[in-house]
Amino acid sequence: MEKWDVTVIGGGLAGLTTAAFLAKQGLRTLVLEQSSRWGGRASTDEKDGCLFNMGPHALYSRGQGLQILQELGLDPDGNEAVLGGRLVTPNGIHALPVSARELLKTTAFSFREKLEFARVLTKVSRATLPGESMHVTLEEWVNQITSQETVRKFLYSLFRLGTYSNAPSRVSAGACLRQFQISKGGVRYLHGGWQAMIDSLTALTQSAGAVLRTGQKVTSITGAHPAMRIHLADHTEVETQSIVAALDPQVTHQLTGKVPNSHLAALCERLIPVRGAALDLALRRLPDPNINFALHLDQPYYFSNHSNVARLTRDDRHVVLHLYKYTSPDDNPNAERDRKELAEFLDLLQPGWRKELITSRYLPRIPVTYGLQTVERACSNGEETLVSDIPGLYLAGDWTAGDAMLSDAAIVSGKEAAEHILHRKMSLATSIPASSILKMESSKERR
Ligand SMILES: Cc1cc2nc3c(=O)[nH]c(=O)nc-3n(C[C@H](O)[C@H](O)[C@H](O)COP(=O)(O)OP(=O)(O)OC[C@H]3O[C@@H](n4cnc5c(N)ncnc54)[C@H](O)[C@@H]3O)c2cc1C
Repeated sequence: MEKWDVTVIGGGLAGLTTAAFLAKQGLRTLVLEQSSRWGGRASTDEKDGCLFNMGPHALYSRGQGLQILQELGLDPDGNEAVLGGRLVTPNGIHALPVSARELLKTTAFSFREKLEFARVLTKVSRATLPGESMHVTLEEWVNQITSQETVRKFLYSLFRLGTYSNAPSRVSAGACLRQFQISKGGVRYLHGGWQAMIDSLTALTQSAGAVLRTGQKVTSITGAHPAMRIHLADHTEVETQSIVAALDPQVTHQLTGKVPNSHLAALCERLIPVRGAALDLALRRLPDPNINFALHLDQPYYFSNHSNVARLTRDDRHVVLHLYKYTSPDDNPNAERDRKELAEFLDLLQPGWRKELITSRYLPRIPVTYGLQTVERACSNGEETLVSDIPGLYLAGDWTAGDAMLSDAAIVSGKEAAEHILHRKMSLATSIPASSILKMESSKERR
C-alpha cells in the first residue's frame, strides 16, 4: 500500500495551498479530489466560448490570499475593477455613490442624506480594528451610528457586496468593517476566470513534488497519527501519517464517523453557511453598454459585467454577466423565485437582454463560505478550528481561518494547516516555529 507523509482531501484553493507549502518543504504529499477537475468553488466552466466562474468572483488586492499566493510565486493575471455604476431604488436608477463626486451627483439621496452618508462613511473607513465593533452585530452597530433609514440601507448593500453575507442581526460588525477596508484596496477580475489561477497553483504544487489525483472520492478516515488510513469509493486505501481535510464541515464530520460531542460535531452545529443564488449569463452584446455594475438599495441584488474588466470570451463582442442574490440564512429557500427576481432586476438594467442571450447557468443556494463571521466566531481565536480532536487530522477551508473571509480564508487556512504539520514535524528537531521556517524559505527563493 502507498504511504504518504500527508494526504490532503479536497482540491479547492485551501487544499491546493496546503499541498503547495508541504511539498515545497519536501514532504511526500498526495492530494485527492473527488471531481474530475481542480478548483472546487474557484473553478471556471466554459460554455459557448464564454468563461463562467461559479458566480461572481473577485480577488481582493489587499487580501491575505493574494499575499500568500505571491509568497508561493504566483500573481494571478487580471485587471482591477473600477467601482462605479448604478444604484437601483424604488424611484429609479441612479449613479452609485462610491466617491465624493458621485455622492454629490447622485439622485438616489436627498441633500441631508448625502451629508449623513459622508459622515458615516468617514466612521466606517476610520474604524479601529479589531475593536469594540467585533463584539456587536452589524445591525446593532449600524443602528448606533445613524438613524437615517436610507443611509442604513445603503451601508447594508455595501457590506453585502464586501462580505457576500445578508445576515445583519448575526454577523459581526467588526468582521464586516475589516472586509470593507480590505475591499477599498480594490479587487481583481481574473483573465481566463479563476481556473487560470487554479491551473497555475496546480502546476506549482505538482512541480514542488506533490502527487495530485482527480476522480478520488474519499468515503472515510480511520486511525490517528502516524498510522492513518483513507478509504476511497473505489474500495482502495491510502496510508498516511497526517491528513488535511480541506472540505466542508459536514462532509469532514461524516468522513470521521460523525463522532458525537466531538470538536467537529460542535463546529457543524455552530457554523452558519453563507449562501446565495447566482445567475451567470453570456450575451451577444449588452443592450445598454453604459451600465456595467449595479446594486439595489432595498433588495439584496448584485449585477456586474465581468468581461468588461477581464478576458472571458472568445469573441470580443460577447459579454459575461453575473447576477447574484445574497440570501439570508433566515429566508425560506425558493430557487425559482430567486431566479425570477434576478431576471427582473436585469430587465430593469438591461431591457431587451433576453434577445441577446447566448447561454446561462443558474446556481441556486450555492455556498459562498461555510462559516458566517458571527460575533462568536469573530471574537474567538480561529486557530482552534484548524486542529481536530483526532491526532493527525487537520482542517482547512474557508470556514476555518479566524480573521479572513471567502477565498482569503481558504488560502490562509491552507497555509496554516501546512504550518501546523510542519511545526509538529520540526519541533521535534528544532525550536524554530514553522511559520518562521516558511518565511525564511520564501525569502531564500525570492533572492
Ligand atoms: C457564488 C460565489 C461567489 C464567490 N465570490 C468570491 C469573491 O468574489 N471573492 C472571494 O475571495 N471569494 C469568493 N467566493 C468564495 C470562494 O470561492 C471560496 O471561499 C473558495 O473557493 C473555497 O475554497 P475551499 O478550498 O475552502 O473549498 P472548495 O472550493 O469547496 O473545495 C473543496 C473541494 O473538496 C472536494 N471534495 C468534497 N468532498 C470530497 C470527498 N469526499 N473526497 C474528495 N474530494 C472531496 C470538492 O469537490 C472540492 O473540490 C465565492 C464563492 C461563491 C460560491
